[in-house]
Amino acid sequence: MSLFDNKEKTNIEALGEFGLINYLTENIKISQKSTVKGVGDDAAVLDFDGKKVLVSTDMLLEGIHFDLAYTPLKHLGYKAIQVNLSDIYAMNGIASQVTVSIGISSKFPLEAVEELYEGIYLACEKYNVDLVGGDTSSSKQGLVISVTALGYADEKDIVYRNGAEEGDLICVSGDLGGAYTGLQLLEREKLIYLENPNIQPDLEGKDYIVERQLKPEARRDVIELLKDIEVKPTAMIDVSDGLASELLHICKQSNKGCNLYEEKIPMDPMTFETAREFNLDPTVCALSGGEDYELLFTVKQADYDKIKFKMDITIIGYITEPSAGCNLITKAGNSHPLKAQGWNAFSPPAP
Ligand code: ADP
Ligand code: MG
Repeated sequence: MSLFDNKEKTNIEALGEFGLINYLTENIKISQKSTVKGVGDDAAVLDFDGKKVLVSTDMLLEGIHFDLAYTPLKHLGYKAIQVNLSDIYAMNGIASQVTVSIGISSKFPLEAVEELYEGIYLACEKYNVDLVGGDTSSSKQGLVISVTALGYADEKDIVYRNGAEEGDLICVSGDLGGAYTGLQLLEREKLIYLENPNIQPDLEGKDYIVERQLKPEARRDVIELLKDIEVKPTAMIDVSDGLASELLHICKQSNKGCNLYEEKIPMDPMTFETAREFNLDPTVCALSGGEDYELLFTVKQADYDKIKFKMDITIIGYITEPSAGCNLITKAGNSHPLKAQGWNAFSPPAP
């Protein structure tokens, strides 16, 4: 699982900062009308033609957000873009540009940075966004990647976290808990490898959840689907920290309560089985696991007929008046206050 074995290495120092930037950005093709000037000046120039502009930034730090022992750099670059685009889609916007800033340690050969950028460019191409700038520095604290995503929307289309109304249906796209159980698997294989490097990682039959962790996809398709069927959510957020935390954000900002039904929470069978293998409650993995990058949103009851048969959207509960609180209704029919960290199945984060 070691990173740079059997590969030719090119020292970045020989290129220098400007050489490296040029090397990484010389083949950029601009695809967005709003990009007037991309890489190459003191600032990018964008023209959004009267639209509202959306901006979101996320930083990924080695050792905190990713572990290079099991994260291929190409996947990491891809994921760094996805987690930022996800925030633009969560506003019901169209993502159009990104900037990418990197801090790289001296152990990194050019080939490693190239791999990272392969993933970055792949994500940009697939989601039709232009890379228009960034910053490049050396780092003594491991690899740092900071991405800013820009997007746009008409004012009437923007969906905030605070618009949920009593009686609205709570919906979520895709399935939950996969990224977290995938991470458990990767962590376990890493420990086995560290104890005995001759044992090959055994991830067979687990590709779906490993991919959920290493290569998430922002749900642009869900935004497009909702537009097609003429449903505008009343509130929306992307699921980066776990269903419970995100639903609590919507309820708090909308000043409402909710009933969330455990039995409705969409989960892939592989997520379910793997959680059980690790003696984890699958529901807790969905509620508190995070990194699924699905969209959680509320819609008016009048839109029920439009979404009820949509394969990739599940109705998991409804919004209530604030005094009813935020509740999880368990499979047994009991009601528990919804907590951001599951009940108690997760140990507290390390200091
Ligand atoms: P300045 O000194 O004006 O900040 P830089 O020399 O840092 O400019 O960058 C030159 C150009 O390259 C700018 O357009 C900048 O946005 C872009 N750039 C720098 N680093 C990166 C990177 N890692 N990825 C993409 N573009 C980058
Ligand atoms: Mg600079």
